[in-house]
Amino acid sequence: MSNVEMETKKPNHEYRAYKAWNVMIEYAHQGMTVTYKALADAIGVHHRACRYFLDPIQDYCLAQKLPPLTSIVVNQEGKVGQGFIAWDTDNLEEGQNLVFHYNWSNYPNPFIYAEPDITQEALYKELFDVEKAKDVYERVKVRGVAQSIFRQALLEVYDGKCAFCNFKVEEALEAAHIIPWHYAQDEEKLDIRNGILLCSNHHKLFDHDIFKVNEDYTIGVARYKSKLSGRKIRLPEKTWLWPQKEYIEKRASLTET
Ligand SMILES: [Zn+2]
Repeated sequence: MSNVEMETKKPNHEYRAYKAWNVMIEYAHQGMTVTYKALADAIGVHHRACRYFLDPIQDYCLAQKLPPLTSIVVNQEGKVGQGFIAWDTDNLEEGQNLVFHYNWSNYPNPFIYAEPDITQEALYKELFDVEKAKDVYERVKVRGVAQSIFRQALLEVYDGKCAFCNFKVEEALEAAHIIPWHYAQDEEKLDIRNGILLCSNHHKLFDHDIFKVNEDYTIGVARYKSKLSGRKIRLPEKTWLWPQKEYIEKRASLTET
C-alpha cells in the first residue's frame, strides 16, 4: 500500500469529535452521563477509539473556558478514563453538574467544519493562499476554531517566534489582528496579512496601541522607552504574506478617533 492510500484511510478525529459532540449534548440536556461504549456505538467506532476524539473536545472546552463536557463520559463504574484532565476527578459530580446546567443549545458545534476529509491542519494550510481566507472563515463559523486555525497558520509563517522580540515558547505565542476581529470584514478575519504572531506580552501591548507597527514595518512605542522602538519587525519569509499596509493604515485610522 502506498503512503498516499494510508493517509486517506487515517480516521479523522475531528469529524468524530463533531459527531460525538452532538451525542454528548443530547445526554447533557437530559442530565445523564454516557458510557464510553454507548458513545462509541452511537458514532459507529470501537470504544478504544474514544480518547482520540474526546481529546480535541476536552482541549476545546478548556481553551474556551466551557464546562468540562468530557466529564459526563464514564466507564461502567462511573469513572472517567486516563487522559481526562478537564476537572478534579475526586469531585467529578461538580463538573458534571456544570455540564448539565449549561445552555448548550446556544453553543454551535465547534467541529462543524469537519467532514470526512477536512481537518484544522488542512484548513490552516489553505490560508497560505490569501484568496481563500473568506471561504475558510465561512466554513469554520465558530470563532474559537477560526482563531485556532489562524494562530496555527501564523505560527508556521512566523517560524514560531514573536515578530517583535523573537520569543519562541509556543504556549505563549498568540495571533494578533491588525484590524481587530470586530472591525474586520469576513475576508480579513483570517487573512494572514491581517495577522502578526506575537508573544502574550507584546500582544497585549499591541492591542492597547502602546506598541504599534508602522507602515515601514518598524515598531512604534508610545508612553514609555523601549529598546524595540524603531526596530524592524521580523517578517515572514514569503513576502506575499507580509502584513498588508492598507490594514496597518486602517488600524491607525481606527485608533486616531
Ligand atoms: Zn514578544
